[in-house]
Amino acid sequence: MINESHQLVNNKLWTVKVLNIYWIMVFMSFAGQVIGLIITIYYFPYYVKEYTISKLLIPATIQLAAMGLTSYFIKVKGVKGARILTFTGTISALAIIISHPSVPGLQVLMLLPMAAILIYLDQKKLKFSLIVNLIGLSSIYLLPSIRAAVSVYEYFAYIFVLLCSYFVFLFILSRVNEVLEMLHKTTEKERELMVKSTMMERLTKIDALTGLYNHKTFHEYLDFLYEQSIVYDMPLQLAVIDIDNFKRVNDKYGHSNGDIVLKRVAIAISEKVTEDDIVARYGGEEFAVLLTNKQLETTYSLLEEIRCHISEQFHEELNGNVTVSIGLKHLEKHLSKVDFFDEADDLLYRAKHKGKNQIVCDQLNLASFNEKALNGQH
Ligand code: GH3
Ligand code: MG
Ligand code: MG
Repeated sequence: MINESHQLVNNKLWTVKVLNIYWIMVFMSFAGQVIGLIITIYYFPYYVKEYTISKLLIPATIQLAAMGLTSYFIKVKGVKGARILTFTGTISALAIIISHPSVPGLQVLMLLPMAAILIYLDQKKLKFSLIVNLIGLSSIYLLPSIRAAVSVYEYFAYIFVLLCSYFVFLFILSRVNEVLEMLHKTTEKERELMVKSTMMERLTKIDALTGLYNHKTFHEYLDFLYEQSIVYDMPLQLAVIDIDNFKRVNDKYGHSNGDIVLKRVAIAISEKVTEDDIVARYGGEEFAVLLTNKQLETTYSLLEEIRCHISEQFHEELNGNVTVSIGLKHLEKHLSKVDFFDEADDLLYRAKHKGKNQIVCDQLNLASFNEKALNGQH
């Protein structure tokens, strides 16, 4: 639980922030001491020298040295901050307590390092801070100046305050960690839901066997690209591709071998088209391809390449090859969306009737196309 919440806290950033708070505290205590000096100059001029040395310079030097070293180790050496900050906080607090033994209650300053360490949301670090503070508080009680000013009852009262604060901090920490864990679980659940919904969305768009777009998605693309083509005068062709004599393949070699061949044909088509094109499994052993941003001649060449590639592909499962027939239609402005599709479908049937394994397109002058092809223009 603690480790999880740890990950949610940017420790490095917060170490620097705590360090900055410590610097502010050091300057504030220095300012307080300077005000004390002014009061001393005014009311107790004979005491100025001693005040300046023992209450201003010595504690300030200790604090500055501790802070300087801490800043150096954290910012320059990249030392992780929690432990070193505990020591610095305790030393700074002790410097103030020792230099003002007669100011009652300054011992509560020992709570500050512990409060600051809460930022790490780590029970172990909090415990470490408590131990360091207890040792610090006990050590200074050995000093005669402190012993003279603080009674043993007071001393135990401070220890008690420190311990009570530790348990309060511990409760706060448990609560914060509980909330963080809840947050963590909610985020995790949200992430899982997002992945699931993406998968579901994919499942509704994609044909499970071939990995191509399904019938429904094809029609969505057809709707969109038809509009785009009419509005922006973008070239658009539709090819309806059907595997020849596929029933025979299934009957002779089994449905599962038929599936393998179907997948291979799907890959052959999708590998050869460009990124601008949409390939879908329209149904059964029939594919529909929307080809955009290409002249009809270019599309025809591309489809010829696909047709030849498929017819040359050897399938071990069949100990032979399969071929495809293709109906190709170029979108002209007068064609409705339904006519566009129906005419491509009609052309496919013409290809079947003409003997299969071929492309039929009624908008292309094949004689001049073949002539150009021979001259290497496609
Ligand atoms: P044609 O050359 O006229 O297209 O003949 P065909 O046999 O390919 O056409 P027909 O429409 O008579 O048969 C299509 C066959 O495709 C029927 C069915 O067994 C097969 N088929 C459809 N979907 C699948 C599939 O998902 N997996 C397999 N293995 N076969 C399928
Ligand atoms: Mg067929
Ligand atoms: Mg068919």
